[in-house]
Amino acid sequence: MKWYQMDVDVVEQKLHVTTKHGLTDKQTDGRRKQYGPNRLESQKNTSKWLIFLKQFQDFMVLILLAATLIAGMLGEYVDAIAIMVIVLVNGFLGYFQEQKAEKSLTKLKEMSAPVASVLREGKWEKIPSQEVVVGDVVRVKSGDRIPADIRITNSSSLETEESALTGESLPVMKHATSITGDKLDAQDQVNMGFMSTLVTRGSGTGIVVGTGMNTVMGQIASLMVKTKKTTTPLEHKLAELGKILIAVALLLTALVVLVGVYQGHPVYNMFLAGVSLAVAAIPEGLPAIVTVALSLGVQRMIKKKAIVRKLSAVETLGCASVICSDKTGTMTENQMTVKEVFLNGKLLYVTGDGYDVKGTVYLNQDVLDRDYPNLESMFLYGMLCNNASLMTKKGRYYVDGDPTDGALLVAARKLGLSNQLHDNYRIVQELPFDSERKRMSMVVEDDNRMRFLITKGAPDVLVPRSNYVMKEQGRKLMRSEDKQEINQSINHMADKALRTLAIAMKPLAKDESLNSAALEKDLTLIGVYGMMDPPRKEVKTAIEECREAGIKSVMITGDHEKTARAIATQLNLLPEDGMVLDGSQLNNTSVEELRDIIDQVYVFARVTPEHKLKIVKAFQEEGHIVAMTGDGVNDAPAIKASDIGISMGESGTDVTKEASSLILMDDNFATIKSAIIEGRNIYENIRKFIRYLLASNVGEILVMLFAMLLAMPLPLVPVQILWVNLVTDGLPAMALGLDQSEDDVMKNGPRNSKEGIFSRGLGFKIVSRGIVIGLVALIAFMIAYQGDPDNLNYGQTVAFTTLVMAQLIHVFDCRSEHSIFSRNPFENKYLALSVLSSVLLLLVVIYWEPLQPVFHTLALSFRDWMLILALSFLPSVLFGFTKK
Ligand code: ATP
Repeated sequence: MKWYQMDVDVVEQKLHVTTKHGLTDKQTDGRRKQYGPNRLESQKNTSKWLIFLKQFQDFMVLILLAATLIAGMLGEYVDAIAIMVIVLVNGFLGYFQEQKAEKSLTKLKEMSAPVASVLREGKWEKIPSQEVVVGDVVRVKSGDRIPADIRITNSSSLETEESALTGESLPVMKHATSITGDKLDAQDQVNMGFMSTLVTRGSGTGIVVGTGMNTVMGQIASLMVKTKKTTTPLEHKLAELGKILIAVALLLTALVVLVGVYQGHPVYNMFLAGVSLAVAAIPEGLPAIVTVALSLGVQRMIKKKAIVRKLSAVETLGCASVICSDKTGTMTENQMTVKEVFLNGKLLYVTGDGYDVKGTVYLNQDVLDRDYPNLESMFLYGMLCNNASLMTKKGRYYVDGDPTDGALLVAARKLGLSNQLHDNYRIVQELPFDSERKRMSMVVEDDNRMRFLITKGAPDVLVPRSNYVMKEQGRKLMRSEDKQEINQSINHMADKALRTLAIAMKPLAKDESLNSAALEKDLTLIGVYGMMDPPRKEVKTAIEECREAGIKSVMITGDHEKTARAIATQLNLLPEDGMVLDGSQLNNTSVEELRDIIDQVYVFARVTPEHKLKIVKAFQEEGHIVAMTGDGVNDAPAIKASDIGISMGESGTDVTKEASSLILMDDNFATIKSAIIEGRNIYENIRKFIRYLLASNVGEILVMLFAMLLAMPLPLVPVQILWVNLVTDGLPAMALGLDQSEDDVMKNGPRNSKEGIFSRGLGFKIVSRGIVIGLVALIAFMIAYQGDPDNLNYGQTVAFTTLVMAQLIHVFDCRSEHSIFSRNPFENKYLALSVLSSVLLLLVVIYWEPLQPVFHTLALSFRDWMLILALSFLPSVLFGFTKK
């Protein structure tokens, strides 16, 4: 028998589980061992050996190795071995950089892995989908991906989209009853939910019958296209730049070699020096350092509760000029409390804060109880037309489910209505809430088998659907005065930043069709709740900081215009001349018209997810880089279309998470700001080490070129060149990638997304510093060499030391766009440590006798050091004053 042919109780028996209690912990452990993790097997990672060997596949490195081999065969053992060792160490460094990048990318993937809601030991909990086992009772709702193959046990308007399996993109209605038929295709098994397919509407529960490769998806997983590793635009740009840099480096090196040979240097010497120079000058470590900087930055973002799903977002974040954010939950706490109630034409007040059930209902000064006309039924209906549960943990109340629903449960408790009342009613059908409909309904049957419909939703949606209104004396026809009265109360509540929610009912005949479009019409409006959702404390300052950083914050909400306006004013988001647009106005505005006014708009109210797409497009056409948040399943298109799609870690659906490039673990607007700071910083850090690496390389090439042009001996021997490259390009460059942001990172406007890497003076800085570094090394060489022409090693040691020291001082210069004097050099501990270790290594090479013949060095005197230090500080100090 197939799962779809069985009744739910048979499935329960077969899998030793009940839908009321779920699996026990013992069962889960056993099954996890038996079936393994619930995941589709993906391709194997590249082997470590391969990554290591890849470090040597570079053409110039190969030539260098070949040249060293020849040198070795010609008897230059020491040189050959030294070069080999350096190349090997360099390879290890590259390997570690790449490993680190790879590891942090894998960690990232794990962090944004999907979660599933399962019932275990009678409690609903969220676990990584990977840990779901056969027999688990799972709950799914619109926007979720189904975590495994399930036999559906309960469906409320559950619809799924299974195109990945069946090719059919129309959603399929799912139900819980068994079906006959022997060889049904997946698409006909309408009481089954399949792994990785998407819930497009409604909600439901089911029992897991297959996990991992034992699912329908598992069977076709091997046929699926493997995901390719993608590079970010910056990585791509750098790869392109790398090619140019290689060409330039090779050209210059060739020039050095040619001039050298022309001046009478032996061809063999010049060849080895040239190849070493080429290896040193080609910034082969650049792509790996960029990836490391990006992924380490991403780790820092995780600490600030932002998970980057696509590395490219890190770059784009720094360019963001507009943040469009949902109000509820992102700018506000998403902790609703009913504060006011409009009932019987009067305004009642409810005391109490948060979800605490202590509070009282007042009319003016009078305390009201359940006898007050219609109050009990209004609150009871609020409890019944509800999907949340009110729970306690360590004496504190919290809501499991929608906070709007939760607020109604708390209000009912304040009136003394207990949860047990629920047992007197049976839910027959649910029409779920979505932001498009802005309402939800329940068909309920009482003990006497009388059926009625309860609908709750936005007042402007419910009032036109109501023909009657409940008054103290009973049900009355709704007149225009009643509508006016309701509108007044809504405006009054909204002005106080309260979110309004109307509730209505309708008695149903026994045989009334529950599927007709007229079901939610001819309602009797009972009352309106006004609930408070306080703004998050940190959001106001975040908005202010963003404004200073040239980033506009825009509020998008499904709430009433006045509520939105009031909250926006509290948050200082809406300037005096700022505009508020609402959904109906948006409907009548084309993207072009919207584009013309969009710079003045700060709040969009009563919008549906479709409007969001229009808003994104209009901002983009105005030249903005847009960050857009979303949580519901319908938000996905707008999130995809935006430049930085942002989804919610706590309340978001799987679909929006998949469409997004950034996930906010705490759903908080302020986290977007932190991510932007980090995004800007990462880009600046990348600029810093590009500047450092390239200026150093320019210096290395120029000192050689200048010396050749002046018909001087070689100022550096090949091992020295390679050593400089290893010590300066390795750790200090990486440490720059970890640098703290400059104080003014949020004081300037966003970066232009089209700007090149060398813009804002970077190209000039590289060339000018490079020239001066080359020059000081040359001067040091000339002075030392002239002082002792018979001892070439002496001159070379001084030049070598000056070159290294100038670079190690210059690295601090690179930390600032302004001047070396503007920052504390010890602020970046990694940098201070890496420079210190480089200096120690330098001293070892100079003073440790066994290494002196290897590196062609000799011990330097105090006087030599005075000269070296004076010259090495020169480039940074010089430019520190000009600030160019
Ligand atoms: P955001 O600010 O994140 O866009 P929102 O909460 O402002 O979200 P929606 O969730 O679309 O917007 O809600 C719009 C309106 O729908 C609310 O003002 C309220 O009147 C109504 N509403 C919200 N939640 C529910 C619910 N659970 N049941 C019925 N109606 C609801």
